[in-house]
Amino acid sequence: MKIKKNDNVAVIAGKDRGKTGLVERVFPTDSKVVITGVAVYKKSVKPTRRAPKGGIIEINAKIAVSNVAIICPSCSKITKVGYGKSGDKKIRICKKCQGSLELEKK
Ligand SMILES: [Zn+2]
Repeated sequence: MKIKKNDNVAVIAGKDRGKTGLVERVFPTDSKVVITGVAVYKKSVKPTRRAPKGGIIEINAKIAVSNVAIICPSCSKITKVGYGKSGDKKIRICKKCQGSLELEKK
């Protein structure tokens, strides 16, 4: 997967097109991602032991990774992921500005 957790991405296709957010989870086996604040839908649930009142919960739906593009932290453009090297490490780079797409380690 070219998209990783905590990447800043834009939705480029589908009904959430134009929205942006941070990748919250990735599902490599089905090539889907969950983006914070995107594709949120409400679901009413019956009371359970965990939520005794039941009610409405918000669910963050998975989005196909093919509908998502990364936003380059260097040039702030929606870009494609290329690959480059930083020392011995393979890193993802922006195809527009050649800047690294890897997040700084905090
Ligand atoms: Zn760039």
